[in-house]
Amino acid sequence: MTSSSSQTQIQSQKPPRKPQPPPISTTTPTTSKLNWSLNDFEIGKPIGRGKFGRVYLAREVQSKYIVALKVIFKEQIGKHGLHRQLRREMEIQSSLHHPNILRLHGWFHDDLRVVLILEYAHGGELYRQLRKSGHFSEPQAAYYIASLTRALAYCHEKHVIHRDIKPENLLLDHEGHLKIADFGWSVQLKSESKRMTMCGTLDYLAPEMVDNQAHDYAVDNWTLGVLCYELLYGVPPFEAESQRDTFRRIMKVDLSFPSTPTVSAEAKNLISRLLVKDSTKRLSLKEILEHPWVVKNAENTVACTN
Ligand code: AMP
Repeated sequence: MTSSSSQTQIQSQKPPRKPQPPPISTTTPTTSKLNWSLNDFEIGKPIGRGKFGRVYLAREVQSKYIVALKVIFKEQIGKHGLHRQLRREMEIQSSLHHPNILRLHGWFHDDLRVVLILEYAHGGELYRQLRKSGHFSEPQAAYYIASLTRALAYCHEKHVIHRDIKPENLLLDHEGHLKIADFGWSVQLKSESKRMTMCGTLDYLAPEMVDNQAHDYAVDNWTLGVLCYELLYGVPPFEAESQRDTFRRIMKVDLSFPSTPTVSAEAKNLISRLLVKDSTKRLSLKEILEHPWVVKNAENTVACTN
């Protein structure tokens, strides 16, 4: 981001107390692509660095609305042959409207970059909070699992499988609400079809993906089990020295529960019923929301801003 406006530091970075309707048009991507340019924004401080570019805090000039601008260099996209993946990510994310899914308000591009106009998640990565505290309490973990389950149920209704749920892809807003942020590996299924592509992150891969078998929505239910484990214990369940060993542990569902930290039998029950090799036997998203551990812990938990 080299425009002169990039020097402007935004003074008031306080997000609005209440979520407000985005001033940015949520009309079709083509409209926003034609309408928006860097001149519509005051660019603030960099707030993150991804594989293919940077993320900046920004303010839309007219409405003063705070957003995050994700700047992706076209050269990088071309070099890694990711045109189609990026387009798919943008199309899917901009079509999803759910309180636990980071809004993609629109995008535009110039000769060098593609710029995504994203909802700003003031609380940053869930991963950072997890590393800071080591592991979460059961009510806190259940709160995140319930939020995520609701968001995934919404995605599945729209025939979208996320395929890459992990703490690094989950952001928190200023009130501590969880937001799924990265749809880079997501896919929209046309019918009851299954997918073959191996994707996602090693520790979170479902056995059918490790085994290169066709997979469907149930991969997201598996990753909810992995995430629930990591939120409670601070490490993913099948962690190993090498990729081969991780894969071996996933394929065997080599699941064990350390004695510390202390985790309730109900939480272990939920995890064990999600980390099931036969994808048809995993708990459904509805069953997760009805599970006693989720009902007991998530219901009265409010989001926490650590
Ligand atoms: P990414 O390129 O999506 O991996 O983003 C790199 C980093 O920028 C993330 O790990 C976050 O820390 C930060 N980031 C990305 N998008 C946002 C957002 N909408 N709001 C706040 N921080 C973000």
